[in-house]
Amino acid sequence: MSYSYEAPVSQALFDRASLVTPGGVNSPVRAFRAVGGTPRFMVSGTGPYLTDADGREYVDLVCSWGPMILGHSHPAVIEAVQTAVARGTSFGTPGEGEVALAEEIVARIEPVEQVRLVSSGTEATMSAIRLARGFTGRAKVVKFAGCYHGHVDALLAAAGSGVATFGLPDTPGVTGAQAGDTIVLPYNDLEAVHEAFHAHPGEIACVITEASPGNMGVVPPRPGFNQGLKDACAKNGALYVSDEVMTGFRTSKSGWYGIDGVAPDLMTFGKVMGGGFPAAAFGGRQDIMGHLAPAGPVYQAGTLSGNPVATAAGLAQLRLLDDAAYEKIDAVSAEIQRLVTEALAKEGVAHRLQTASNMFSVFFTGSDVRNYKDAKKQQSFRFTAFFHAMLAQGVYLPPSAFESWFVSTAHDQRAIERIAAALPAAARAAAEATGVSA
Ligand code: PLP
Repeated sequence: MSYSYEAPVSQALFDRASLVTPGGVNSPVRAFRAVGGTPRFMVSGTGPYLTDADGREYVDLVCSWGPMILGHSHPAVIEAVQTAVARGTSFGTPGEGEVALAEEIVARIEPVEQVRLVSSGTEATMSAIRLARGFTGRAKVVKFAGCYHGHVDALLAAAGSGVATFGLPDTPGVTGAQAGDTIVLPYNDLEAVHEAFHAHPGEIACVITEASPGNMGVVPPRPGFNQGLKDACAKNGALYVSDEVMTGFRTSKSGWYGIDGVAPDLMTFGKVMGGGFPAAAFGGRQDIMGHLAPAGPVYQAGTLSGNPVATAAGLAQLRLLDDAAYEKIDAVSAEIQRLVTEALAKEGVAHRLQTASNMFSVFFTGSDVRNYKDAKKQQSFRFTAFFHAMLAQGVYLPPSAFESWFVSTAHDQRAIERIAAALPAAARAAAEATGVSA
């Protein structure tokens, strides 16, 4: 497929990048491989807008894959960063900013009694798994197909996000030993969880799940699913680990926990809590967290963990995220959801718009999507046409049918009107699209 609009400066940058960086990008989904065309190289962001290297402005519905919940270049976040930078960028010692950020997380999320800061969501889930294994003295980990927990070796089996986008089977480089203790189950299937515990008595250290998955598109847990996981874990001496890297501080003030109230033993965070910087965390019950070095024997560390600039940005962002901010985000999201559904329905395009609070995504299918198998049945070629029509009209969507869309407090009426104006042509493009699904 070829596209009628061009991005010559982005293309030149991509050509340069492809010579020195595998695939031209530093994270696979950015490369547009699932949708084709030239990835846009962005040079600046303000509020709900991104500007690319060709000088074209886009309404941003990716928000850096979640973190930019106040929009780009929020004055309070920029000011906090500038103040922190002026004092120095890294000390390799403890600092007050880390304490304040940890206190903010503990104050917002009741099951988190102690928290350890790290630099990426991947590190958070990797460390939480190690801690769960160290605490229980067991090896096996249960995960769900279509859930993505970062590129942790043991968790890449049947993962969502880029692994789903590219239909990768199992990643070369992960050994049988690393993956051998991972049990992959269909999402939203409690029966499968009970069977796994039955088949592996005393062997399962933890069940890790996205609190509400957004990495196979948005597929919320069925009512009672997370509670069922917690109960099954408690009954069998395993830990219930809720990955809130995506949903944390986004779906509510206290993330998905604030919505379903199911208290995990361990939780992971990232994205929003870093304010656009590399900051993430894992935390939970004090008796479990107390097993971490130097308090306990399970080793975990990081040169840049709790970095003063990253913690300043994260803290500034979290402090602005009060009830009114979430009301705004929820309202903006609901309005965009309504416009998308209306436009697609008008063109007779079969679709399911699925939501998890203010996170949402569109599946081009006529049936509800409950798990990864359902998600893969969608007609993703329609998404490709829809995506490019939106892009050509200045709306930047995630370049994959298997990703959540994200909004911010900065998405104002003007931004919404631009989305509304782009939707009819995009819905038409989706209706007229022919092809095979990726
Ligand atoms: N867990 C979830 C639920 C995620 O969505 C992601 C990233 O998208 C990660 C973990 C990994 O985070 P990071 O990309 O910061 O390593």
